[in-house]
Amino acid sequence: MKQAVLTAAGKFELGDAPKPSPASGEALVRVRAVGVCGSDLHMFREGSIGGITIQDAGGPFVPGHECVGVVEEAGPGVQPSLAGRRVFVEPTINCGRCRWCLAGVPNVCPHQRFLGLPPQGGCLAEYLVHPARLCTPLPDDIDDDTAALLEPLAIAVHSLDRLGVAGGCPAVVLGAGTMGLTHVLLLARSGVAPLIVTDLLDYRLELARQLGATRTLNPTRDDVVAVCRELTGVHGADFVFECAGVDETFGQMVEVAAPAGAVGVVGIPVEDRLAFKHSAARRKGLDVRMIRRANRTFDRALARTIAEKLPLGRLATHHWPLAQTQQAHETAANYRDGVVKAIINP
Ligand SMILES: [Zn+2]
Ligand SMILES: [Zn+2]
Repeated sequence: MKQAVLTAAGKFELGDAPKPSPASGEALVRVRAVGVCGSDLHMFREGSIGGITIQDAGGPFVPGHECVGVVEEAGPGVQPSLAGRRVFVEPTINCGRCRWCLAGVPNVCPHQRFLGLPPQGGCLAEYLVHPARLCTPLPDDIDDDTAALLEPLAIAVHSLDRLGVAGGCPAVVLGAGTMGLTHVLLLARSGVAPLIVTDLLDYRLELARQLGATRTLNPTRDDVVAVCRELTGVHGADFVFECAGVDETFGQMVEVAAPAGAVGVVGIPVEDRLAFKHSAARRKGLDVRMIRRANRTFDRALARTIAEKLPLGRLATHHWPLAQTQQAHETAANYRDGVVKAIINP
C-alpha cells in the first residue's frame, strides 16, 4: 500500500509498505479522508511537538489522526458485521485499565498511544489497523469531510464541558483556525452573547461570522483587550477559549476574562511554554484549564452535528490525493489560498 512518510521537517515522501492485517480486536480500515491538524503542522514545520520528534517513531513516520474510512476486515474477536461499515476512528488508544481510564478521563491516560504521534504511526496511508472498539459506524448522511472533522469537534465538546459553559454570558474565542471554529459552532448554539472571535486572517473571521460569531476582531487593526472589555460591559467574558497557541493570545486570554471567569487553553505553542500575567489571573480568581484531546465526546459530537445540522463540513476548504500530501501541508502551514482544513483523500 501507499503511505505518506514525513522523512524530515518540511519533507514528505510517498512510500510503500505491506498492507497490514488486523490482529485480535482490531479492524482493517481502508482510509477515505484524513484532516490535516494544527498538531500535524507542528510536526511538519518543526519536526517535533511538545518534545516528541519524528525520530521517536524509530523508523518511517506516518502522521495523521483525523480519520474516516471503511472497515475492510474485522480481526479475530471483532463483530463481523463491522466489515463494510464506514467509520470514524477515535485516535486516542487508551489502556482501559488504569485509574484514569476507569475514572472516565481516558484522555489523560498515561499509557495512551495516539494515532500519528510517535511512536504510533498514523493514517496518512491507504490502510490502517486500529482497535475496533475505537471505530464507530457512521450514518450515510454524514459525508467524509464532516466525519473527518468530528475529531476536532469532539475536542470542542470536551472543552465546553471542562469550562461548564452556560448561556447568557459573554464568550471570547482567540484564534479562528479549525479548533477556534469548532468552538464557535458549539458556542453559537449554547446561548452565549456576545460571541467574540479574533484572528489575524480576515477570511477566517468572515467564516467565523457565518458560523455564529457576533463580533470579530483582527489584532492587526483592533485593540483586542480594549474592545472585548467594551463589548462585555467593561468586565470581560465569563468563558474564554485560547485556540491559537501563541504568546499574544496566552497574554490576552487572562486580560479579556471576567472575574471568576474560566479560560480554556486549547492551542499548542511552538516553544513548550505558557506565560500570562499572574496578577491579572490571580486578582480575578480565574479558572485556567488545560484542554487535553477529546474525552469520550465523539458520540455527542456526532449527535449534535446531526441534531443541530452543524455546518461542520464548511471547514473543509481543500482536498488533495495522498500523492500531494506535501502540497497539502505546505498550503495549510503557510495559510495559503484561504485554507482552513486541508483534507487528504488516500
Ligand atoms: Zn487533530
Ligand atoms: Zn489508561
